[in-house]
Amino acid sequence: MASVERVPLIAGNWKMNLDHLQAIATVQKLAWTLKDAKHEYGVGGAEVAVFPPFTDLRSVQTLISADKLDLVFGGQDLSEHDSGAFTGEISGAFLKALDCSYVIIGHSERRQYHGESDELLGRKVAAALKHGLVPVLCVGETAEDLEKHGPSAVPVAQLKAALAGISGTPNLVVAYEPVWAIGSGQAATPEQAEQVAAKLRETLTELLGAEVADATRILYGGSVKSGNIAAFMREPNVDGALVGGASLDIVEFSSIARFQKHVGT
Ligand code: PEP
Repeated sequence: MASVERVPLIAGNWKMNLDHLQAIATVQKLAWTLKDAKHEYGVGGAEVAVFPPFTDLRSVQTLISADKLDLVFGGQDLSEHDSGAFTGEISGAFLKALDCSYVIIGHSERRQYHGESDELLGRKVAAALKHGLVPVLCVGETAEDLEKHGPSAVPVAQLKAALAGISGTPNLVVAYEPVWAIGSGQAATPEQAEQVAAKLRETLTELLGAEVADATRILYGGSVKSGNIAAFMREPNVDGALVGGASLDIVEFSSIARFQKHVGT
């Protein structure tokens, strides 16, 4: 068990969905839907984060800050570089200037479709920390990896590789996202998630010491819904969820944020 209390994090990765106008409407509705959950925050409730596309970030920032909404936000990726001739890239400095708290690094879609290597992801983690952003480092095995190597070998190797150049007491979040569970409707079992999360925490202890390992939130991601969130949150090493598809449904996502089953129409 952890010797420090970790505030659960429920993070919604919108991927390439919702333009800036839709983002404004979504954040307004989400904040409204979570309003009466406010008293839960900090007393057993969760921190709720959204990860909109880059083009939405300024609108989301303005809304959250003007209306003092109890939500945080971050980017879905960042460049390893600070600035310069890197067409299409986004600097961590720019994300920080927009008040982003977090940045997702190494989502399996970036690894798969953009060929992002563990070495590059290590440099991105360093860039995020340099700019005061909390990296949400995604690790996870494919179905083939699972069959060949078992559940934790690949996520642990990815974590080790991405943190190879990191020292001190970084503020990190690790998201365990089995690739076979993402968008498939077939979530890992809570026991599977716990088994890998416990291995990831052990690995963090080896790499960065017990204090960092205890403080680091480990999320589960992959077909999380209001119907299964409570079971994941009961596991001692699972500190929240990274939610893809269900984060676009406001009622469903707010039920997840409260770890409650949504009984909807
Ligand atoms: C994701 O892409 O990070 C994810 C967890 O997606 P989904 O919730 O749709 O499985």
